[in-house]
Amino acid sequence: MYYNSTRNSDVKVTSAEAITQGISSEGGLFVPESIPQLSLEDVKAIGEMKYADRAAFVFSKYLTDFTDAEIHYCTDNAYSTKNFETESIAEIAHLFSGTYMLELWHGPTCAFKDMALQILPYFLTTSAKKIKLDKKIVILVATSGDTGKAALEGFKDVEGTSILVFYPEDGVSPMQKRQMKTQEGENVGVCAIKGNFDDCQNGVKAIFTDNDVKAQLDANGKMFSSANSINWGRLVPQIVYYVSSYADLVKDGEIELGEKINIVVPTGNFGNILAAYYAKHMGIPVNKLICASNINNVLTDFINTGVYDRNRKFYATVSPSMDILISSNLERLLYIMTDRNDAVIRDWFGKLSSEGKYEVSDEIKAKLKEEFCAGFCDDEDTKKTIHSVYEKYSYTCDTHTAVAVKVYNDYKDATGDTTKTIIASTASPYKFSAAVLEAVQGCKSDIDEYDMVDKLAELSKIPVPSALADLKNKPERFNDTIEKADQKDYVLKKLGV
Ligand SMILES: *Cc1c(COP(=O)(O)O)cnc(C)c1O
Repeated sequence: MYYNSTRNSDVKVTSAEAITQGISSEGGLFVPESIPQLSLEDVKAIGEMKYADRAAFVFSKYLTDFTDAEIHYCTDNAYSTKNFETESIAEIAHLFSGTYMLELWHGPTCAFKDMALQILPYFLTTSAKKIKLDKKIVILVATSGDTGKAALEGFKDVEGTSILVFYPEDGVSPMQKRQMKTQEGENVGVCAIKGNFDDCQNGVKAIFTDNDVKAQLDANGKMFSSANSINWGRLVPQIVYYVSSYADLVKDGEIELGEKINIVVPTGNFGNILAAYYAKHMGIPVNKLICASNINNVLTDFINTGVYDRNRKFYATVSPSMDILISSNLERLLYIMTDRNDAVIRDWFGKLSSEGKYEVSDEIKAKLKEEFCAGFCDDEDTKKTIHSVYEKYSYTCDTHTAVAVKVYNDYKDATGDTTKTIIASTASPYKFSAAVLEAVQGCKSDIDEYDMVDKLAELSKIPVPSALADLKNKPERFNDTIEKADQKDYVLKKLGV
């Protein structure tokens, strides 16, 4: 299997090259040259495996330059009860008859990004070795909260890597700040910036592309790499849990082998739902892919009209991980749907960066409608949904998951479709305790975040994930705060180059 770039189909690299490069040099994203197939027999066999082996089975179709031993080295290290609180890794909860919650948040940071960021460090170090890049990998991350912590947990003490995370001093929640300040591991660093998220991000980008810095790292046997969400190494692990959950439903007798299901995904960057699209086209029987957005509903409009327009107001919502106006992974979908027409992709995404807007052809509009349904939900409906799911089913869901539940309910009301349905549940309710508690109780509380966690535990009867329960007692290790102008010097000093 080789990988092409969405902006130049002549680019042809192995998966190890795609993963170490992250993004193609002309700005395109790496896409496998074809979608490998799974038979229903394969799916049945997958149901008998443990999660790490399910993942290895799927990866063996995409990472054909990896040996079996290399793939298992990655999956065994990433997907074990050392890192996840449940044996099944991707747990299925029954909401009501025929509707299943795919809980992707039993990893170390209690959000679905762990599913990919637990394995990415192993993909990266294995890839670098394979292509004889005999260098230590340095990861720089700018974070508005969740990605930084998930990356820290993923790279912590992984041999041959180190990681430095920057966050805006006043731009993350008290809980998120504490999660990062107390991070364990010998190869990690965390630093606050006096500025906002964009300042952190711009600083990191400038350092990444600084040739002097690159040369200094090179002379010291080090290289930069990115844990960014457009890396193929973050997308491919997400395909696994859709395959895995379908196999589980068959195994548990909930569906027949071959029966179609719907999949609902709360998304912003279009990553998680693109993974579901891949699973479908690998052979998982899927009826509709339902794309759920919050009030930043650029994707809803796109799927319904074929016009992508980011020129709109940006809203900060109670589902902040979906507050996104540029959905990077859409580029991969459109590349596949245009039969890999790199010229068209260059045109549309060129317009996106110059005018903030593009419109796809009628043929693509029809294809989008055939595969996807889309809807959105505002904060008020998000909270109402958390409340009613709690009352009706004694199930507590987080704000992002609630967006998906609401959009799915609207879809069912509008279509009468009774196909069995998987809803991707992307975060533990504890991760967004303030909003979830307010929704469950029907009013705001003015207690601190730790007390909110305790209160929520009392109401939801879900055990507090140990990663959050321990937080109160952990010592703070990282208290550096710097001016944004000093970011580069800070990196060089920390790396000792
Ligand atoms: C990142 C995130 C999302 C959105 O994921 P996409 O990559 O945009 O599909 C949804 N929910 C939570 C909790 C997240 O952290």
